Amino acid sequence: MVVKFNEYAGKKKTAVDAMADKGYEEGYLADAIRARMKRDGKRFWAGDNISDYLHESDREHLINEATEAFELVLDRLLIDRETDPNSQGTARRLAKMYFNEIMGGRYDPRPDCTAFPNDSEDRYTGMLVVRSEIRSMCSHHHQPVVGVAYIGILAAEKLIGLSKYTRIAQWCSRRGTLQEELCNDIAREIMKVTGSEDVGVYIQATHGCCENRGIMAHSSLTQTTVLRGAFLSDPGVKKEFIDNIKLQQDFAPR
Ligand SMILES: [Zn+2]
Repeated sequence: MVVKFNEYAGKKKTAVDAMADKGYEEGYLADAIRARMKRDGKRFWAGDNISDYLHESDREHLINEATEAFELVLDRLLIDRETDPNSQGTARRLAKMYFNEIMGGRYDPRPDCTAFPNDSEDRYTGMLVVRSEIRSMCSHHHQPVVGVAYIGILAAEKLIGLSKYTRIAQWCSRRGTLQEELCNDIAREIMKVTGSEDVGVYIQATHGCCENRGIMAHSSLTQTTVLRGAFLSDPGVKKEFIDNIKLQQDFAPR
């Protein structure tokens, strides 16, 4: 059969398209998903959430594929995973830990945050500051980032449950991140779920990549601040936020 030129004009398949069409029957599911994301121009950096591209049933399959890859890493590191009892299940433990725990925020959809109306006559109009303990991992070295995020918000016409602020912060944290980007991510997601334009996020964290290697700094602390809306434009709001953080730190030193 002669293929008419017009059938392909303007829509010639790229290698990425072909891989995506093939699905994972003939290769790795992770490759098929990566191909779909590339085709759609979807960014999939270590700090990005890609839950829209995964089905819940994919997780086990992806863990199996990552187990195989971690086995190869252990082999290349010349670690005997056949007779060393402590290394026998390590590849699978690593794969599960990455997908379900330390990078779980990449693969899980955003936590459900039901918003409650705050529009009655005597509605709360003040500032809320929530202290959230976070655990993250630096994208550069995959070393732990451990700290506290203080989330400040001026109450808008909707409010979310107090624990939801921390759920959002932890969902953003459980990825490969840079602290500067993490601060931005938390602010953006809190603005989305609350509809508030007035949000501040301050993070204090220690970094395993500075403590466990390199400069071996055991008392280093990194602070980042993101201010939006009134937190940025109104010095009074900014001061109240910083004062509240200090009060929180008196109450519970980190
Ligand atoms: Zn690092």
